[in-house]
Amino acid sequence: MNEKLIIGIDLGTTNSLVGVVDSGFPIILADSDGERLTPSVVTYRGNGLIATGREAVRLQQLEPERTVSSVKRFIGRPYDHLSTEEIESSDYTVQPGPSGGIRIAFDEDHSVSPVEVSSEILDHLKRVAEAALGHEVSRAVVTVPAYFSNSQRETTKAAAEAVGLTVERILNEPTAAALAYGLDKLDDEQTVAVYDLGGGTFDLSILQMKEGLFEVISTAGDTQLGGDDLDLAIATAIQERLGIDNLSTSESSRLRAAAREAKEALSSANTHTIRLPFFRDTESFELELSQHEVEALMQPVVDRTRSICQRAFAEAENKGASSITHLILVGGSTRIPLVRRCIEEWFEITPNLSQHPDEAVALGAAIQAGILCGRVREVLLVDVTPLSLGIETFGGLMNVIIPRNSTIPAKAGELFTNAVANQESMAIRVLQGEREMARDNWLLGEIDVPFTPGQKGSARVGVQFAIDQNGILEVLSRNTATGEDHVLEIRNSAIDVDDTSVERMVSESIDHAFDDMNERIWTEAHMKSEELLPAVDSALELVGDKLPDDEIDSIREAAARVKTLLESDVRDAIALKQANHALDEATQTLAALLVEAAFE
Ligand code: ADP
Ligand code: MG
Repeated sequence: MNEKLIIGIDLGTTNSLVGVVDSGFPIILADSDGERLTPSVVTYRGNGLIATGREAVRLQQLEPERTVSSVKRFIGRPYDHLSTEEIESSDYTVQPGPSGGIRIAFDEDHSVSPVEVSSEILDHLKRVAEAALGHEVSRAVVTVPAYFSNSQRETTKAAAEAVGLTVERILNEPTAAALAYGLDKLDDEQTVAVYDLGGGTFDLSILQMKEGLFEVISTAGDTQLGGDDLDLAIATAIQERLGIDNLSTSESSRLRAAAREAKEALSSANTHTIRLPFFRDTESFELELSQHEVEALMQPVVDRTRSICQRAFAEAENKGASSITHLILVGGSTRIPLVRRCIEEWFEITPNLSQHPDEAVALGAAIQAGILCGRVREVLLVDVTPLSLGIETFGGLMNVIIPRNSTIPAKAGELFTNAVANQESMAIRVLQGEREMARDNWLLGEIDVPFTPGQKGSARVGVQFAIDQNGILEVLSRNTATGEDHVLEIRNSAIDVDDTSVERMVSESIDHAFDDMNERIWTEAHMKSEELLPAVDSALELVGDKLPDDEIDSIREAAARVKTLLESDVRDAIALKQANHALDEATQTLAALLVEAAFE
């Protein structure tokens, strides 16, 4: 058992899914048939066995009264809150239960509670996850509609706990969807509308990002509006066209299944043939439906979502929400082209379709679960550079170009020059790490940039680092005199550093901070001294006679101090830096004289 792992569950009215973050990415787990969607259906068979998911859907036509679907509508609600329509809409019997609750009864002495049915579905998902992962799981994040009451949330949690899943968090479905769309990584100024049209319910939620977290600011919906209503409208039309009356329970269930199949097929095809072999006794039926016909049947149902949206929009506006920046579609029924067209037309906003509408909620649950168990850190790390990137410069120093924790994509550059005269090329050594000295960092790659030999400082080499969204670092070095480019591509290593190495590098840089800093100052001061001393000597030779003796003495004194420190065994970086500074000060007049002489 992996005690730390947390799975994410979308416990839907019609379909349920389970996901997890694996190697930094959220994925939906498939069952042994390769299916990722599990119908939220449970059959309590006459023989005492219990079937869940697709098997229960197959049994629905044989044992409609013993097959429980859409149980989510009943969870955590008191019996006397149910409308007659809700009580009568199912093929199974809904009865009052103990302490005001609900019972689903199959016969005189066999009934179950909505929690028990939900537990069966959750247990099924748990087993799907365990089979896919190869070990037991015991913790989960479970999503619920934003409008769910406290009691509905608590009951959902109890259903999971009954099958050995500790619920680490109950997450709102629209929030989960927004997470899946990655909307939490954009800026703070956003208002997201989530249009969720599933099998039995419709919800429109408006979320606003506040301090990096989504808050549901308004929600409106209809718990009796969804794909099932579309199926019913289509089934009724088929029945009329076939001219058959008085459908039995199993006939009407078969017809609805055929209608649903047609509806789903017509989301991506223009026509579909419905076949109902031996529908009634020996009579078989066949008829063709077009997308156009079906759209006309669905239009009134789709239209009902419009005023609900307007209600949520108005409420959000009242609460001072800024205008909608993203509209996302969730739920299997949003695959219907008509639904997409209507939304665009009504609200003049193009929906973001980058995610699977039926999987977005489960993916979001998996992401939340991954965050809670620390598995998403890798994903988040992809968004920032875990360590600084730079190149080695004069004296073996690390010159940082893209600092640690920069968000990617990132681009930065600097201009470098030759440190010594007549150098023919410059080695660009690409480094990663937090240490001051190049040798203590990691070498990622190296390129040699050739240039025409010249005086010190005559060459100009521009170095640009660019990290793209995939973490690929491209180092471009350009000889600005010739325009010649050299490109070095470093895959992954710039971003893909395991956590322990990053921690080690950072802690070493802290441990060595004092020594490192001292060494950097020493190296820089050393280079400065080596530049200053010969320059002072040659200036004295050229224009020294124009200076008073005492000034020459003080210059020589300052230069001697620098020399002593340079040659000393104790590398006193600060003292050398101060000595350089003093020598600089002492040679002010000398430098001015040198400039004057140059102009004469
Ligand atoms: P829920 O959130 O209620 O569990 P889902 O998001 O899984 O529901 O949506 C299920 C509904 O989506 C069903 O009514 C199903 O018929 C419908 N659906 C799934 N795929 C399609 C499709 N391609 N075209 C039209 N409807 C679809
Ligand atoms: Mg759903």
